[in-house]
Amino acid sequence: MKRETVDVLIVGGGVMGLFLAFHLRRLGVGGSVAVVERDPRHGQASTARATGGVRQLFGSEANVRLARASLAFYERFAEEVAAVAGRAPEPIGFRPSGYLFLADERSWPVWLARRPLWERLGVEAAWLSPAEAGELLPGLCVSDLAGAVLGLRDGVYEPPAILRALARAVLGGDGFPGLGVALVSGEAARLLLRRGPAGRPVACEGVELASGDRVLAGATALAAGAWSGRVLGASGLPVWVYPRRRLVYLARPAGPWPAWDERRLPHGLPMVVDPTGLHFRERYGLVQLVEARPDDPDAFDFTFDDRPFPEMARRAAQRWPRLKGLRLVEGWAGLYEMCAFDGNGLVGPHPEVENLFLLTGFSGHGVMQAPAAALAVAEMIAYGTAKTMDVPELRPERIPAGRPLREEAVL
Ligand SMILES: Cc1cc2nc3c(=O)[nH]c(=O)nc-3n(C[C@H](O)[C@H](O)[C@H](O)COP(=O)(O)OP(=O)(O)OC[C@H]3O[C@@H](n4cnc5c(N)ncnc54)[C@H](O)[C@@H]3O)c2cc1C
Repeated sequence: MKRETVDVLIVGGGVMGLFLAFHLRRLGVGGSVAVVERDPRHGQASTARATGGVRQLFGSEANVRLARASLAFYERFAEEVAAVAGRAPEPIGFRPSGYLFLADERSWPVWLARRPLWERLGVEAAWLSPAEAGELLPGLCVSDLAGAVLGLRDGVYEPPAILRALARAVLGGDGFPGLGVALVSGEAARLLLRRGPAGRPVACEGVELASGDRVLAGATALAAGAWSGRVLGASGLPVWVYPRRRLVYLARPAGPWPAWDERRLPHGLPMVVDPTGLHFRERYGLVQLVEARPDDPDAFDFTFDDRPFPEMARRAAQRWPRLKGLRLVEGWAGLYEMCAFDGNGLVGPHPEVENLFLLTGFSGHGVMQAPAAALAVAEMIAYGTAKTMDVPELRPERIPAGRPLREEAVL
């Protein structure tokens, strides 16, 4: 059995874990930093399977602030990464093509109620009548709509490219020297917890790997996505994160590629969100369809199921008849990392276990919040407090305190 000691240990090398390592170095944290990752190729990582939407249009102040700061980072991704890693990364395909939420009579008042918050925080959004939404996407069915809101700075990117770019910048490879962050290949089986007099866990001292090797650490950050709950549970801690399967479909329109108003949408088709929650974007020259379905299992289930596709394609075409005759090309299943308490990220120290930080549970909106959420945790580790990017509403202490964050603008 081997035993190593590092200053900071990060469990999970997806977008959260890699951004955390990146920010630690960016802040000038000089000690030893290691990332434990059981699959550096990211075969099952949620980041590699995500839809690729980035928006500020959330319903709670904490989520708007996180998303807004993260969006600003993604807009300057190449410069920000190059400034720390010494070289520009590969492009991440960011396009500010917008997010178009369509609202019916029931949901429109809920959207309008968010307007004062967005105005206070400076969120760039256009409020549209149904007719105006129809002008953006000619032919759009607007008869049942009460309005629409278009996130003007929001858009899309390629999460797999973000992962590759960060992995090279942080860990090195392909001409990148890396940031002196070690990759520990292996599975973290459990956290090593020091117990107090009453037998309760009081501090985290690192992790034990499935191989039996141990990595001791001054600070440990759990960023294992949908598997975070498994690590917590195996360590005897409450399981605050669980997996939920989501299906993604890529389809080809039957006719010519549907057109939109290119003067007002110069960066391409926005992410269009139907009032039912069904949403579509353009990806790889195809139409990508996703929605939260009540029968998606809460399990580590990567089974791809094409049965819901025809009905989703029918609804998409009903909304925008130019999508008539969509033919399924390919699809996949991925996992949302659901926060069992309130469906929002857990960002900060574990409320009972010293030296353990949580950066997980983002419940389907993690890529778009990762740069800022990871910065918050990096600052807590580096300075003991989140100096520039504090989101107290998302600290895990809200769970024992019974203070859920209410967020309804989720997909
Ligand atoms: C279909 C789908 C669509 C989505 N769409 C969007 C979207 O449009 N916008 C958005 O912002 N978010 C979206 N998300 C959510 C987003 O993908 C996640 O919130 C985000 O990727 C979480 O990042 P992560 O680093 O926490 O997890 P992951 O990317 O899953 O990374 C976790 C890593 O930890 C490793 N790991 C796990 N357990 C262990 C262990 N015990 N030991 C060592 N390593 C371990 C895994 O191998 C993995 O590489 C979507 C998700 C899905 C599934």
